[in-house]
Amino acid sequence: MEEARSFDALGLSDARRTAIQALGWVTPTPIQWKAIPPALEGRDVVGIAQTGTGKTGAFMIASLERIREGEGLQVLILCPTRELALQVAEDAKELATGTGFRVGDVVGGVGYGPQIEALKKGYEIVTATPGRFNDHVDRGNVDLSRLRILILDEADRMLDMGFRPQIESVLRKSPKGRQTMLFSATMPNGVHALALQITKDPAWVEATPSGTTAEGIEEVVYTVRPDNKPELLVRLLRDPSWNQVLVFTRTKAGAEVLRGRLQREGIHVDSLHADRPMQQRTKALERFAAGEVTVLVATDVAQRGLDVEGISHVVNYDVPLDPEDYVHRIGRTGRAGAIGTAITFVTGGDLGQLKSIELRLGRTLERRSVPEFDYAGTSGEQKDRDRNPHSRSGRRIGTRSVGELTDEELAALLDHSR
Ligand code: AMP
Repeated sequence: MEEARSFDALGLSDARRTAIQALGWVTPTPIQWKAIPPALEGRDVVGIAQTGTGKTGAFMIASLERIREGEGLQVLILCPTRELALQVAEDAKELATGTGFRVGDVVGGVGYGPQIEALKKGYEIVTATPGRFNDHVDRGNVDLSRLRILILDEADRMLDMGFRPQIESVLRKSPKGRQTMLFSATMPNGVHALALQITKDPAWVEATPSGTTAEGIEEVVYTVRPDNKPELLVRLLRDPSWNQVLVFTRTKAGAEVLRGRLQREGIHVDSLHADRPMQQRTKALERFAAGEVTVLVATDVAQRGLDVEGISHVVNYDVPLDPEDYVHRIGRTGRAGAIGTAITFVTGGDLGQLKSIELRLGRTLERRSVPEFDYAGTSGEQKDRDRNPHSRSGRRIGTRSVGELTDEELAALLDHSR
């Protein structure tokens, strides 16, 4: 079966095959191969697939085969972020080449006018963020009566962001006989329950086992002292193979500080985070995609839906707080089989967080270091912490752990820390 994996074997229309060819896609990705046949039959689909696996193609190719021009809004794709909604709309337009299908995007942070027009004119395909879409539903701008296919993209993220009420509201107002597809990078209980609730006898398809990252990604941890992080990054960026680098920081302020620092080093850099107006965010993405800037410093807001081909390196400048975010962040590189490298900077204080990530992945990440920047060097903070009997994270007296203390010592420690 694997040998026969081809777009021809999926029995698609000529228009679709031409559009796929124009995109340069030769072979369906595993998720496309598994999800397109049941979706073409009109079955509900639950897909476990992260961004980078070709999941957008999976649901869009099948959807485009099942709708008709001029019959109003028939495909609605709900996405967690504006960036993802705009990206999915772009993919939909490309896959719809050669047809008269109109694709609209309905996202927050921009004017209502063009969105109302797309909705009133009955664009066949709409990608949307749940909040703004619901606004339009409440204002009576949307006719959902002919909706044939409802797709929840990155369902885990949408629930994390608190969009459940908006999703349920759309579900209540859309026709009962519709086809529903839910795609999610992970399948925690909440998403699983939602999938069972909103789909009927779905085909369950999985791109890669949950919790693993896309194939073709080399993952490395660099141990580093916190104050040496900028130098380490600058050093690594000198390697010419680091030609399109996405760097994640934990905070918006951190992103700006790092951007300034890299700029002073003469590195072509831009930033992407929620404090920048939509227009500037779009511009930053365009410049990055066009290769005008080598480095894009972003916060987690940008991690999903950011679809730039050829990202060579993803750097977790700060360790992600949630292990799920690790999986999503590094899904930005190594897309659709390309080779990419994901680097995570880990300080002595991040070791617990690193452990959580490794437990989540079920494997250990390779450690590397540049000796003069490593925390295990002479003034490493780990050593400082071990020397400090009252350090919170160390939880040690001298070299003994809490469990080894006598009752008196424990009482003294607790007394001290009050
Ligand atoms: P997605 O997971 O939908 O965000 O897609 C990840 C990337 O893979 C996008 O840049 C797509 O254009 C690309 N892609 C999707 N399907 C294929 C395919 N069958 N062959 C090559 N590239 C693909």
